[in-house]
Amino acid sequence: MIKVDQLSKYFTPLKKVVDAISFEVNKGETLVLLGTSGSGKTTTLRMLNRLIEPSSGTITINGQNILQQPADALRRQMGYVLQETGLFPHYTIAENIAIVPGLLQWPKQQTAARTEELLHKLQLPPHEYSEAYPRELSGGQQQRVGLARALAANPPILLMDEPFGALDPITRGMVRKDFMALDELHQKTIVLVTHDVNEAFIMGTQICLMHEGRIAQIGSPATLLFNPANDFVRNFFSEQR
Ligand code: ATP
Repeated sequence: MIKVDQLSKYFTPLKKVVDAISFEVNKGETLVLLGTSGSGKTTTLRMLNRLIEPSSGTITINGQNILQQPADALRRQMGYVLQETGLFPHYTIAENIAIVPGLLQWPKQQTAARTEELLHKLQLPPHEYSEAYPRELSGGQQQRVGLARALAANPPILLMDEPFGALDPITRGMVRKDFMALDELHQKTIVLVTHDVNEAFIMGTQICLMHEGRIAQIGSPATLLFNPANDFVRNFFSEQR
């Protein structure tokens, strides 16, 4: 379980980019950080894997303060998916997926079996794609590989920053559907950044709507939609229709 308590970040003394936010995410849940551009979503996500160090507040994972753990050990528990897939162009698809299992020194056979399993589940038949290079794949297929790479070593936590943001709406829907069909997600704790309200409602068990570094409201999708806490929340959703 991820617990964030009174977390703040300022890059300059005058502007708090994230301002004393608190939330909890349990295993099997997806917390969506939703909000307009510049509201602090990515900064919050990047504090969870210590790519950005908090100015104040605490983050604990299963009761352990992450600031007291080496960043490498922390990140080994986390898959990270970004809009830009960051696949290595000179590695084959199978080699890209095998990066983290390789770092963890998994036996070759185990890595190969896991790679094949993920390619199947993400609709990239291994006999066609394992030995291909990223440039030979469409944007949607590359993002499927990015998802497989993040999932390869079975991390209990998945951090996702606009993972489908670079895709056209139809491809985005298809990749998201295949991702959400993965059984193993029920065992994971997921934090997803998006500014797509539709995506937030489809994927979120909780939505944390951010505004100028603060939480405007946090709760189930239905709560935010039917019981908005304030005018900002009400207007945010009515403007999206
Ligand atoms: P977007 O949807 O556009 O990615 P966001 O909600 O994810 O936006 P952040 O990327 O967290 O927002 O940025 C929040 C604010 O923090 C922005 O005003 C941004 O300019 C500022 N910011 C982010 N990183 C830095 C940095 N390294 N130094 C200074 N300011 C920063």
